[in-house]
Parts: sequence; structure tokens; C-alpha cells
Amino acid sequence: MFVDAHMSEFDLIKQYFTRPTHHTDLGVGDDAALLSIPAGHQLAISADMLVSGTHFFADADPYQLGWKSLAVNISDMAAMGAQPRWATLAIALPDINESWLAEFSRGFFACAEEFNLDLIGGDTTRGPLTISVQIMGEVPTGKALKRAGAKVGDEIWVSGCLGDAALALAHMLGKFSLSAAEFASCAKALHTPQPRVALGLALRGLANSCIDISDGLLADLGHILECSKTGAEINLTSIPHSFVVSNYFSTKAVQQMVLAGGDDYELCFTAPVAAHAGIERVSEELVLPLRVVGHITNSLGLIVRGLNDEILDFKETGFDHFA
Ligand code: ADP
Ligand code: MG
Repeated sequence: MFVDAHMSEFDLIKQYFTRPTHHTDLGVGDDAALLSIPAGHQLAISADMLVSGTHFFADADPYQLGWKSLAVNISDMAAMGAQPRWATLAIALPDINESWLAEFSRGFFACAEEFNLDLIGGDTTRGPLTISVQIMGEVPTGKALKRAGAKVGDEIWVSGCLGDAALALAHMLGKFSLSAAEFASCAKALHTPQPRVALGLALRGLANSCIDISDGLLADLGHILECSKTGAEINLTSIPHSFVVSNYFSTKAVQQMVLAGGDDYELCFTAPVAAHAGIERVSEELVLPLRVVGHITNSLGLIVRGLNDEILDFKETGFDHFA
């Protein structure tokens, strides 16, 4: 419940968070939303919360924040091979700032439209700026891509480029200095990530396991290994990165961003060698680079080979002393 002199909670929800829906039986405005899942499908559900000061700067651009708060959730659907369908939005606002709300909602709905997703409900309250989205998608029963499922001998693939978001963040924190053009290029990855939904859907039946890279390749690949009870060997030189990252790839700090930087929202997946040609066709169809960065092994743990094929010295979780 939110009481304010300028605008009621009801008016706020109506103005900023109510849009026509496309595949929902009953959307915003009742005590609960109603939706129907097609026969033969499972509902995939996930939630991600963004807290001011922890996940974004308090003065973050509201349009980008609206986009990103939905995009990071859609990315979880992509990683499951699920078609994103519905979302709810629980938001705590310190005050009613209408120009902020207008931009936040424009960014949120731009992302919703891009991925054909209905906002079907939520909650609005006063409090420190916090954005919590729950997302729901559908996937044919038994066809979801899980973290468990990687097999010894699988190739490990990564979509797009890694490291841009971490490099942009380092620049904003004054830890790294980029030219204006370089920053503009990297900042897109940080502020308006593009969840790989089409890729996730195309990988059903091809990939053995899949995860989205939100916490860095090593950490997220580590989840696949743990769930699949396997190990892996990857090569730093094979990891795809942008021209901006390649400008600085000789520095250890940037190598670490590629391996362990967060916020990329690309997919990391494993697939048998027999699926290699099929995955290359997917790459061409989607006009999305997909690269093999290593393979799954039967010795537990993750080995990373550096620029000269040397084994990099870090523990599976202790990326910090890699810098
Ligand atoms: P209740 O008191 O029954 O919890 P609310 O007054 O919180 O209902 O919400 C009224 C309607 O608006 C509900 O349908 C709810 O799902 C929706 N809603 C509230 N906040 C949001 C929001 N931020 N985004 C989308 N829908 C919202
Ligand atoms: Mg409520």
C-alpha cells in the first residue's frame, strides 16, 4: 500500500504499469492474475531482485533500469530453453517521482514488447528503491535445458562476447580508463543486456546443459560442473570478446573480466560433438556468434589455460587472486 498526496497507488499502477496483454486471461487490476498454460507444457518460474546501491547506482538511468530489471529475468528463461510469457513486478519506491516512473516504465515495457511478454501484476510500496521481478515462461514438458546434464566430452560453448559489462563497470568506478567511444560500446552490454531467448529455444534437443552468465563465466560454468558432477578445461584464448576488450586483452585485469566479470547475460552451454554442425547452423540463422571455449572432462574441477597454454593458477572459487 502506498499513500501519497500527489497520486494514489491505484492511479500510479494504472498509469505506469498497466498495458494491454496478449496471452493472459486476466491481467493487472484484480486480486490475482489468471493465465492458461498450453497442454503438454511446463511452467518455468524464476525471480530476480535489483536493489539500489547493490545492483545499480541510485542515480541510474531509469529507462535502462526498467529494461535491465526485466532483461535479467528473461535471461533466466532463455537459459532454461523456455519461452518467456508473463512477469510480475514488485517495486519499492522512496517517493513518487513521475518523470522517473515514466522512464522506468518505458524501459520495462520496451523490453516486454521486444520479447512478447505480458506484465500481469505486482505490488507497489514505499521503501528504499528495490525492483523485484518474477518471470514465468513455458517449455514443452521434459525439454527444459538444465544445469545438470553436461557429459564428459561435451564441447563448452559461449554466445556473444564476454567482458564488456565488467569493463564498462570498471570504467564507471574509476578503476579502468576507456575512451568515450569504447565506453559507449561496452556500456550497452552493462545497461541494456540482450537476453538470448531465440538461442535458448533453438538449443532444445541440441544442448545437454545450459546456464546464463550473470556472475561470470567461471562461476556460472562452475554451477554446470557441480550440478553435472563433471570437470572442464577451457582456454582463455578461445573466449569470445569484443574489439574493445581485445584492445586491452594483454592486461590481467581485463583477462579476469572476461573469465569472471558479471552481468554479461550470454549463454554458456554444453553439447555433444555430434551437435557441433547443428549449433553452427543456429549461429548463422540467429546471426549470433557461438564459440567453443573448451570441453567437459571426467576429472572434477575447472582448468583454465592462459595465453601460452599454461594452466592458470587460481582456485575454483577464488578468482580474486587471479588479478
Ligand atoms: P491487493 O491490495 O489486492 O494486493 P494492490 O492494490 O496491491 O492489490 O494491486 C492492485 C492490482 O495492481 C493488482 O492486480 C496487482 O497485481 C497490480 N499491481 C500492483 N503493483 C503493480 C506493479 N508495480 N506492476 C504491475 N501490477 C501491479
Ligand atoms: Mg498488494
